[in-house]
Amino acid sequence: MAITDKIYVKNHRQLASQLDTSFPKSAFSGATLDILFSGDGIAKLDDASRDRVLDFAEDFLDCNCQGHPHCGCPERKFISYLLELRAQGLGPEGIVDVMGDDYMLYAYPGDILSFLDDSVRTLEAAERLADVDSRKKAGERIGQRRRELSR
Ligand SMILES: [Zn+2]
Repeated sequence: MAITDKIYVKNHRQLASQLDTSFPKSAFSGATLDILFSGDGIAKLDDASRDRVLDFAEDFLDCNCQGHPHCGCPERKFISYLLELRAQGLGPEGIVDVMGDDYMLYAYPGDILSFLDDSVRTLEAAERLADVDSRKKAGERIGQRRRELSR
């Protein structure tokens, strides 16, 4: 399962009742993207929730792909967001706190930790490949990224 399958909407029950409809708890589930993040119901949400929902839509659902919002861009952008927070020096708990403040989302710190470990391992593998390939620049860039994520 991708990490984006393990990101959940905070106050899910409360939001569903404000929207007067149900949607899955998982933030990146197709129905949640449709109903909560790009539906007409946004106006029915209380101010604080609406701001967060709009921020999420603006930051992750802003592409013009034909399949929008089911094109994979929201997931890809969210993963960059997680890696960016890590590069800023936050640990799993801190990342979970920030996504709560920013977008009213939550995840289990253990899931974030495995995701970060996997990302570092993927980068290590890419770095080794670049070395073998003597693509020095690429290898250095990847190494830099890996060090940012593993400090
Ligand atoms: Zn897209």
